[in-house]
Amino acid sequence: MRLSKTFTLITIALLILACLPLAWIINSEWTVYHAADEGLNSIQIAHLAMVAVEKISFERGPANALIGASATPAARERLRLARQTSDHALRDLVAALSPSRSAYHQRALSSARVARQRLSEARRGMDRVIGSPAPSSAEIMAPIKQMFDVVPAILEAVTSLSTLASNAYPQLSNPLSGARLATELREYAGRMGSTLTAALAEKRPLTETEARDVFILRGRIEQLRGTIRLRLNVPSSQSGPRLALDSMQARYFQDGLAQVDLVLDASRRGQPYAVSLEDFTAGYVPTLYSIVELRDAMLTAAAVEARAQQRAAFRHLLGAIGLGVVALIAQLALLAFIRRRIARPLLAASRLLTDIADGKLDAKLPVNDRKDEVGDLLRAIAILRSNSQEKRRLEQERLRLIEELTEVSRLDFLTGIANRRAFTQAAHAEIARARLARESATLILFDIDYFKQVNDQYGHDAGDAVLVHVAAMLNRACRDGDLAGRYGGEEFVLLARHGGASPGDALAERLRAGIEETPCALPSGEWLAVTASFGVAALNDIRPTLEQMLQAADRALYSAKRQGRNRIVMAEN
Ligand code: GH3
Ligand code: MG
Ligand code: MG
Repeated sequence: MRLSKTFTLITIALLILACLPLAWIINSEWTVYHAADEGLNSIQIAHLAMVAVEKISFERGPANALIGASATPAARERLRLARQTSDHALRDLVAALSPSRSAYHQRALSSARVARQRLSEARRGMDRVIGSPAPSSAEIMAPIKQMFDVVPAILEAVTSLSTLASNAYPQLSNPLSGARLATELREYAGRMGSTLTAALAEKRPLTETEARDVFILRGRIEQLRGTIRLRLNVPSSQSGPRLALDSMQARYFQDGLAQVDLVLDASRRGQPYAVSLEDFTAGYVPTLYSIVELRDAMLTAAAVEARAQQRAAFRHLLGAIGLGVVALIAQLALLAFIRRRIARPLLAASRLLTDIADGKLDAKLPVNDRKDEVGDLLRAIAILRSNSQEKRRLEQERLRLIEELTEVSRLDFLTGIANRRAFTQAAHAEIARARLARESATLILFDIDYFKQVNDQYGHDAGDAVLVHVAAMLNRACRDGDLAGRYGGEEFVLLARHGGASPGDALAERLRAGIEETPCALPSGEWLAVTASFGVAALNDIRPTLEQMLQAADRALYSAKRQGRNRIVMAEN
């Protein structure tokens, strides 16, 4: 796998590895925060349920006050208002519970519905007794008991909600169950008042059953007080519940119960009661508020605690998210750094080295002036490349020089036409080709006449000028494919293609006439007429090689010299 791909895969794998624990931490912090939220919500709903219990308990007071007494419009209005209040409380509770899908909430909701059912039945019974002119004690107690039975159903709802909140935060368990116990205490204290109602209304001593009920209620009330005290013994930073407990001790357990004791005392002695039912209700019921205040103080303490927990959970959640984001950014920055400073330059280096190995030396070099290892590497590659460029330049120079030398070694330095070696080499190849193609060729060999005299008479420079002049005329006479050369001192050679005996003859004659008719300008400014003698030999079966053609042409040239020069002699067949 290519390194670039591997790096991308490693980057993705590292990001996933970093994200997984991060997601796990954030999720668990979120769960804690969510539980705190739910706990707080449950406390609020539990409070609604406790208020419903309280209002239903309270409703018994105005209802009981109407039994046996003349139902004044004011008393009826009080009952109507009390019923309206407890209806509101129940409605609020049901409304708060309905949207939730939590099993605890659903259980609490069905308890609340049972309570509502029982409440309306109890009210019907109560209305019958209130409407009756002289109800018996049993008739009076039946709807009162029905009213009592409403409460356990809502207390069940309170228990479900408290359990839910305590599950979210075990620390809430004490204040919540304390509040629940206070709710129960309020209920039993209310029942205590209700149990005395019939006797006070009828101004008679308590029946045996009533006395026993009061005794049992007293016991339960004391038991609840003890349990609530225990709950509050747990050290807490909040003083509200403790102050509320002290107030409840003074107001209910001293003042309230003292009023009950007075009634019980009178009943036991068979004396008339010192207070009417209305007076008793007016004196006793307000002391019950101290229990409600204790309940609310404990609920407030629980809510404060839950809110603190929620805030802490929120801070932890924010911290986890913040840390996560920072860790993620740091990792991304690190990966980007590695990519930019190491991976990418290394890839560039690898490409450059491959290019250098392939002979591609023109690619753009990445700018890297960093003083680190990667920078060193790129600088070394740059040096390597410039060395390779220099080497290539030298190699090209060498080839050019070789070419130049080869060219120079093939040319005669004075006249610039091919020298004898180059001519011989090319002529061999041309003759081989012509023979293969069954073409004819003619070799013309000529020598300047009396050349020694030119040197002697006009100087060596003049001789050179004559040689250059004749070579130029030879060059001009050449057609495409003809080969010309300086064969020796003042001896020149021409191998003409496609030339039979007569075309070779004609070419030699044109050349000879041209030389004769064209005087040469000497360095001194003088003009000098020059002539040359020619020996011509055609390629044929008797002379199939260059050497044989040269020998024949040389013999013919010799013959031309002997015959008086400035002429052409054809080699004999
Ligand atoms: P002939 O008509 O019989 O050919 O007489 P010639 O004088 O031309 O012949 P010879 O062979 O006696 O003389 C050739 C002279 O050419 C001798 C030599 O000094 C001269 N020579 C050869 N090469 C060069 C050269 O490159 N430059 C000059 N200036 N002279 C050269
Ligand atoms: Mg000669
Ligand atoms: Mg000569």
